[in-house]
Amino acid sequence: RRRIGVLALQGDFREHLSALRSLGAEGVAIRREAELDGIDGLIIPGGESTTMGKIAAELGLLAPLRGAIDAGLPTYGTCAGMIMLADQIRDAVPGQQNIGGLDVIVRRNAFGSQLESFQEDLIVDGIEGSVPAVFIRAPVVEEFGADVTVLARLSDDRVVAVRQGNIIAMAFHPEISGDLRLHEAFLEVVNSISVEA
Ligand code: GLN
Repeated sequence: RRRIGVLALQGDFREHLSALRSLGAEGVAIRREAELDGIDGLIIPGGESTTMGKIAAELGLLAPLRGAIDAGLPTYGTCAGMIMLADQIRDAVPGQQNIGGLDVIVRRNAFGSQLESFQEDLIVDGIEGSVPAVFIRAPVVEEFGADVTVLARLSDDRVVAVRQGNIIAMAFHPEISGDLRLHEAFLEVVNSISVEA
């Protein structure tokens, strides 16, 4: 049974914890550095990246999280979680703090105000059929490095899911769609690492 930490400072971490529970994994709410010990994977939830970054900085969590990710901890970010993992953020608030580690440039709130939230059925690499994807004031990936693989694009071609090594990031919210296959795919990444180790 795998232990997956879910950063639980702000946002929809409860939905991630319940998705993990449904899949038979153990979800652990992360609010302190010591709670990173002994986890096999990490989820950064959706919410508001500016607030999440601020709280994480106040708690001294940014560097330990980055250290764990750089050490190879499988990590999955959704929406604000994707922004938290991005090396560079466009339309960030001044002084916005994040974790980084993922070689992408994301744009926050990329869909403007008249299209704040929408759903689209997405084709995601490695998943059979389509996946219902809920976008809420979502970011997009505007640029990415050579080590980054695109997992999904919107019908207008914009990049909304990527993988770089053990890091997976999605601009939408698999934790609220009720379709658990993307969490399942993340747990497969976690399992493949634990088996190697
Ligand atoms: N717009 C939010 C941000 O900048 C992300 C929204 C979300 O996670 N649904 O962090």
